[in-house]
Amino acid sequence: MSRKVLITGASRGIGREIAISFAGNKDNLVLCCKNNIDDLKALAVELSEKYGIMCEAYVCDVSDPDSVKELYDKAGDVDVIVNNAGVAHIGLLTDMDVTDWKSITGTNLDSLFYTSKFFVPGMIRAGSGRIINISSVWGAVGASCEVAYSASKGGVNALTRALAKELAPSGISVNAVSCGVIDTDMNRKHLSDEELEELCEEIPMGRMGEAEEVASLVLMVSQAPIYMTGQVITIDGGWL
Ligand code: NAP
Repeated sequence: MSRKVLITGASRGIGREIAISFAGNKDNLVLCCKNNIDDLKALAVELSEKYGIMCEAYVCDVSDPDSVKELYDKAGDVDVIVNNAGVAHIGLLTDMDVTDWKSITGTNLDSLFYTSKFFVPGMIRAGSGRIINISSVWGAVGASCEVAYSASKGGVNALTRALAKELAPSGISVNAVSCGVIDTDMNRKHLSDEELEELCEEIPMGRMGEAEEVASLVLMVSQAPIYMTGQVITIDGGWL
């Protein structure tokens, strides 16, 4: 039976590829993004025509609880949540202003509380569900000049493990997919070609990961035995 899957931050990058891979699995999709709604709507039309699925596209700022509540009111209950939306910030922590800190932690971590708060009660009523959080290797080992980002992803890992314990009795699994360097706008925006090349030299696979590779892992995790829960699964080309 086809599932209804919420994917946050699906307008581009990893979230877009996750949407494509779940659509290929004939799942029905609820997609959202904050800014690039025209791109997201075009993707929704493309996927619904190509795969004969229901695919809805909404504007939702996942860092804003009212916006997530509005999304729930429009979209209704789902079977799978992929918390993918995220933002990065590079710079010294002492140079960071409070607004930027709140934006990073709000988008990357608080958002997981909001999607859980509004979408998990329906999963509990159904007695089943799957939550997959997109994390980062920086959440485990920390990165200089990405302290807020690392802290937010460390929070994602801890939330994953704790919520998995809380929701296991309700038949809901909670796992995270923790990425190394993946070739998307997030890195292209913050790092020069030279810096990216240097990074690739440190990665045993000798290259960045592709968003499609992450997406196929996320689909696999969504299909894994429900007994697998509370796991943070790394995809980083053998880097860390
Ligand atoms: P990306 O290409 O910059 O895309 C980010 C996506 O998140 C976009 O769809 C964006 O929507 C959406 N988004 C940002 N803020 C949002 C908000 N407040 N509300 C709703 N949507 C929002 O980034 P990416 O590389 O695909 O990253 C996806 C996830 O993977 C993130 O959680 C990131 O931390 C994680 N990750 C990425 C890497 C990497 O190397 N790329 C490594 C580790 C982890 P708009 O288009 O509307 O702005």
